[in-house]
Amino acid sequence: MNKLQPNILLIYTGGTIGMIKNANTGALKSFDFNNLLKQIPELKLLSCNISTVSFENPIDSSNMNPKYWVQIAEIIEKHYDQFDGFVVLHGSDTMSYSASALSFMLENLAKPVILTGSQLPIGDLRTDAKENLITSIQMASLQLRNKPLIREVGLYFEYKLYRGNRTTKINAEHFEAFESLNYPHLAESGVHIKINKEALFAPNARKKLVVHKTLDNNIALIKLFPGISEIVLTSILETPNLKGVVLETYGAGNATTEDWFIDLISKTLKKGIHVINVTQCSGGSVAMGQYETSSQLKNLGVISGKDITTEAAITKLMYLIGEKISNKTFKTVFETSLRGEMA
Ligand code: ASP
Repeated sequence: MNKLQPNILLIYTGGTIGMIKNANTGALKSFDFNNLLKQIPELKLLSCNISTVSFENPIDSSNMNPKYWVQIAEIIEKHYDQFDGFVVLHGSDTMSYSASALSFMLENLAKPVILTGSQLPIGDLRTDAKENLITSIQMASLQLRNKPLIREVGLYFEYKLYRGNRTTKINAEHFEAFESLNYPHLAESGVHIKINKEALFAPNARKKLVVHKTLDNNIALIKLFPGISEIVLTSILETPNLKGVVLETYGAGNATTEDWFIDLISKTLKKGIHVINVTQCSGGSVAMGQYETSSQLKNLGVISGKDITTEAAITKLMYLIGEKISNKTFKTVFETSLRGEMA
């Protein structure tokens, strides 16, 4: 390796970027990583040393789960000291969940971990994969006084680098597949790469990386809708061993004030199940107490997700329950921004 250049580890987990079409069915499926790299000889021209590691069996990210998040985190942990930056190739479908999960799992991260992928396979003539991959590697290589410039989990797609735990996949068709509605992008790639310095996360550089690997998935996600029935809601909230719920409410955190609903939430909280209020809106924040339709939730002790994305709320809940945060402090810890995921 050329020591004067940053060392970048490319971690291939799967996704469209590395898929080919099955000639008989036309369905896309993963293929081998070395073939993928052959498609981009330009990688050799970049001013960094690239090493690669691949999942043994690359996956479509719709098969993503916490066990794979632990695998990715362990790869980063194992190679953390030898590399200056990490680029994770990942399907776009669940990329925001993985970016959010990794942000919580990698405490005191002081190097870039950039997730990217593509809407079209790398072998496709009109592919968006090459730009996404090449610029992600360039962003991960950026240094300031010999130290990585980006020191957080990012997501790069279609000319923009976002804070990973602020993103949501918003489009299955457009190359611009992601949005970060409550937080500005970290960098933009045009003729030049423009960094939005004020938006970058500043970790405590004196602390060592701590990798958290216990995620508890005894949680549920409930999206309210007009007409949601008591019987359905009750059956979800009575799930054995349920420890937390992300409740997607309306607007600024509002929900029906019908007695059965308020009683059910109250009973759930009394059982020690954490209830997180997040908004169904793509942008904006929960503000419990702003309307009468959220005041009771506030008084009951429902946790405010503020402007967090559902993806970040789900993974933060798995992480904090996994960390066995006490019931006494859980609300305060959840309502605190840990990795820049909320205001
Ligand atoms: N289904 C694919 C995946 O998430 C889509 C993509 O890669 O964009 O793995």
